[in-house]
Amino acid sequence: MMNPTYRVPIRKNKRPAQYDQFEATELYCPRCRQAMPVRKRLLLVLPEGDKYEYLCAACLTAVGDKIEKNTEGITLVRP
Ligand SMILES: [Zn+2]
Repeated sequence: MMNPTYRVPIRKNKRPAQYDQFEATELYCPRCRQAMPVRKRLLLVLPEGDKYEYLCAACLTAVGDKIEKNTEGITLVRP
């Protein structure tokens, strides 16, 4: 039986104080009137995925959001 080694990311939402700095992007902030670095914050945990909110790092205005679908945690079940 094949038993390939997968790198399964462990992403249980038990680290509320940590942010994924890798994904830090710049989004246009209407308040600062320019593209600003953003902070990503977990907003909601939905059945279809986790909803994140992006906040301007300077003034904390919400400048966007996104839902990360829970596709990474799928367990490969093979007969
Ligand atoms: Zn701002």
